[in-house]
Amino acid sequence: MMRHLTLILSACALTGAMAFAQGNGSGTGNGGGNGGGGGTGDLLGTYLASLPLETVSAVERQELEHMRQEEKLARDVYRFLFSTWGVAAFGNIAQSEQSHMDLVKAMLDRYGIPDPLPSERVGVFRDPLFTQLYQMLTTFGAASQLHAEYVGLLIEDLDIVDLDHALAITDNRDIDTVWQNLQRGSRNHLRSFHSLVELRGFYYPGVFLTLAQVQAIVTGDRETVPVDENGVPLR
Ligand code: MN
Ligand code: MN
Repeated sequence: MMRHLTLILSACALTGAMAFAQGNGSGTGNGGGNGGGGGTGDLLGTYLASLPLETVSAVERQELEHMRQEEKLARDVYRFLFSTWGVAAFGNIAQSEQSHMDLVKAMLDRYGIPDPLPSERVGVFRDPLFTQLYQMLTTFGAASQLHAEYVGLLIEDLDIVDLDHALAITDNRDIDTVWQNLQRGSRNHLRSFHSLVELRGFYYPGVFLTLAQVQAIVTGDRETVPVDENGVPLR
């Protein structure tokens, strides 16, 4: 709950973040790319299937239910932004978010937990706070293409921090493997969105992440290989 309330306040502060970020030199980079848990193919699937079924705690169940909705929030917002602006990155990354939703669903199924999503419809969630966030972020992102790119940055920032939290409080190896790969995808998405704002002479100062953390991620290489529960690439 705290995380949601913080996000609502932060979304309102995005305009401020954009203003103060303006004029930080220019950068290059490509804005395309989807990145993500998608295309992880069977390296990841095979690895997950090899891990033992463990007892799932109440906290793990809550985190699975939360992240299933948060990944849908990302997918739905990016679908909306793609339909609004026609920028390929939103379409590609929306597909990656679908693969993240599917990974969480696979864990829900594996542990016999009902899907918290009441519907596949865009903008519909079990938790009404996600519905509010969907409305707020799409409204903000409709203002301009730059606003839309900042919405992407905020969503990925939130996702990375929420997944750090999930990793800290869950320990099933299969579930942690999913968190690590979702987080790897989020870092790639942050890189894609950041390259778009950099081309306009802007940067993202971080809302949940620190500026130093954002910089460390966006200057790092794209991570294309699926990882295990400790974040070590699978080979
Ligand atoms: Mn994701
Ligand atoms: Mn993402």
